[in-house]
Amino acid sequence: MDWARENIRKLEPYVPGFQPKEDGFIKLNTNENPYPPSPRVKQMLGRIKGDLLRLYPDPHSDRLRQKIAEIYGFRRDNVIVGNGSDEILSIALRCFVGEGERIAFPHPSYSLFSVLGQIQGGEMASYELDDDFRLPPAFFSAGARIKLLASPNSPTGTLYPMEVIDRLAEESEGIVLVDEAYVDFAEESCLPLVRKYPHLIVVRTFSKSFGLAGARIGYAFAPEEIIQIMMKVKDSYNLNRLGALAAEAALEDWDYFRANVDKIKGERKFLEKELQSLGFYVYPSGANFLLVRDPEGRAREIYEKLLGRKILIRYFDDVRLKDCLRISIGTHEQIKQLLRALREILNGCSPSGTAGERKNEA
Ligand SMILES: *Cc1c(COP(=O)(O)O)cnc(C)c1O
Repeated sequence: MDWARENIRKLEPYVPGFQPKEDGFIKLNTNENPYPPSPRVKQMLGRIKGDLLRLYPDPHSDRLRQKIAEIYGFRRDNVIVGNGSDEILSIALRCFVGEGERIAFPHPSYSLFSVLGQIQGGEMASYELDDDFRLPPAFFSAGARIKLLASPNSPTGTLYPMEVIDRLAEESEGIVLVDEAYVDFAEESCLPLVRKYPHLIVVRTFSKSFGLAGARIGYAFAPEEIIQIMMKVKDSYNLNRLGALAAEAALEDWDYFRANVDKIKGERKFLEKELQSLGFYVYPSGANFLLVRDPEGRAREIYEKLLGRKILIRYFDDVRLKDCLRISIGTHEQIKQLLRALREILNGCSPSGTAGERKNEA
């Protein structure tokens, strides 16, 4: 018996990055923040009384939306929050795409775009990025109910400057959704364009730059009319009380947030230089990860050997990302361990560090 709808039957589900059950891994595979969220988050959660969880949360999460709006110079009516930015993407597709209607996005990009689109029963239109991961002209002129673009893009790290998004919005009749999950690690955001275009949505998250991936809090900015449509479709209580409180506490510690982001950007620079000196090609990144290509085609082997040493990075089985590895920016200590392991692997040394060192001494 085929219980599932036809598009669900055919669906290849999204595969989240590996989350090991045991300890002892250096986890550089899912772009989590290597540092904990602001200590204020823990303090806030420690003060929680039982009644708080007995009652339903505010269905509109007004206090958090207000806080986000004030920080970024918008009105509360321009902000929606949700159970991670993934939920916000899902809400947008449910709002704006009907069965058989077109959803356009570049490739390679965030693979959840296509999965959510297929669940919705839309027609997927994917546009190949060029060798420098620039958008093809056809993406600008494409007709679609919605265009989805991650900037900085994942897994490439490419930031699409404001002028590119401006042109995209200018040339698109349907909704343009820019997923800025990594934008806090970049030098530029297209957020000001939300004031210019009636059909632009900018989606963000607390998962990466605020170190709150486990709390599942996403948010988006858009013109009021768009937000009203999305509020109609979202689950009544789509953000739980603990998530909302954690996000509010994190926003109150802006200095911690800035320092954390700056530290990661500094480590990104360090790792980039070191990887280049090992002979890798490092793509420009505005995110908390680097995409690197091994000109000698050993990416898969390197990935597997690192895995054997409990260092997790990402290898993509995708023709467009041939010989590429994606490495999340960890702490300085984690990056040093990664580089040590990489040097040994590239030298073809034995996996035991001591043997490698002895060889160097000889
Ligand atoms: C990590 C990521 C997200 C997911 O964010 P959540 O808020 O944790 O759901 C969204 N978009 C992109 C491009 C990401 O890499």
